[in-house]
Amino acid sequence: MADQARPEEKRSPVYHTFDRYARQLLMDGWDQERLARASVLVAGVGALGTIVALDLVLTGIGKVVIVDFDTIEMSNLSRQFLYTDQDIGEPKAVVAGQRLRAANPDVQVLSLNRSIQQVPQTVWDEMDLIVDGLDNFEARRWLNSLCVQKRKPLIHGGMFGWWGNVQRVIPFQTPCLECQPLIPQERLQKACTPPGQRRKTEEPPPKFPSLLSVATVIAGIQFQEVLKHLLGIGKALDNFLFYDGLYQRFTILKLALNPNCFLCSDRFRIKGEIFTVGREESVTELKNRLIMTFGLVAPKIMFRGRILSDEQILGKLRVKKKEPIFINDDSLAQPLKLLVIIK
Ligand SMILES: [Zn+2]
Repeated sequence: MADQARPEEKRSPVYHTFDRYARQLLMDGWDQERLARASVLVAGVGALGTIVALDLVLTGIGKVVIVDFDTIEMSNLSRQFLYTDQDIGEPKAVVAGQRLRAANPDVQVLSLNRSIQQVPQTVWDEMDLIVDGLDNFEARRWLNSLCVQKRKPLIHGGMFGWWGNVQRVIPFQTPCLECQPLIPQERLQKACTPPGQRRKTEEPPPKFPSLLSVATVIAGIQFQEVLKHLLGIGKALDNFLFYDGLYQRFTILKLALNPNCFLCSDRFRIKGEIFTVGREESVTELKNRLIMTFGLVAPKIMFRGRILSDEQILGKLRVKKKEPIFINDDSLAQPLKLLVIIK
């Protein structure tokens, strides 16, 4: 769905900004112009995402992208206050987009009624920061790997009943969501499957106990982490926070980078994978296979320091057994090293 045009300003934009943002402009270290230049994507507009998105929009973040492919259900209404009874059955992204645009016409709101896997690369590239308000592990895992590949900061939030958690991921500086076993173990089995090979259909998300007040606390903390990151002020969450609303406890854990993490550790980046290439296979055919296998966008293949042209045949290049080729792609944080076997 395309952006709606902003309504004509009735007053001078300068006075308008002073009026609308008057109280936050009094904050130390505040830079409204910096916020107006920022772009933030909110993945999922459910219990957490609706609140974070509303906070971002009311604060005057320049561009807010919301992504969700769900429709509004009656059971959402006890927590997700952007929606009303009349919206049941409507797409969340579309309705949330309308409410958010009405909440602050200064902000460019792009609402995408689709899964996060279908967000165009150009949208990801434009973002300063990603907020995770997703409710299923598969999508969250995909989002985490994308943020690592694109080196985009990710503010993860999750909740269960009276409990909630926030994790701040700065790729290669702080642990990603795969570094620590915070995603259930049985799901880790699927972790090594690249995005291109994953199932297209999503399972319906499991139903967890959920409370608006916990969502408000967690989403508020997520939003504040976004704000501090953009303004470069205060002390960022370092790096995992657990909240227990029933016994009123905040616990901060300093998680470590996992040297064996398949996504963000050096070990994975250096090791390389063994990849079999057909004797007659052209570089074009190999590229298509890499796109399918690793979910790449437009790979370039480097061999002995040179980029191979499409019509070249790897079988004719006298590649030694397990000699490395390097794959470069916009979707990769680091070149992918493959140890080639010609058959
Ligand atoms: Zn990791």
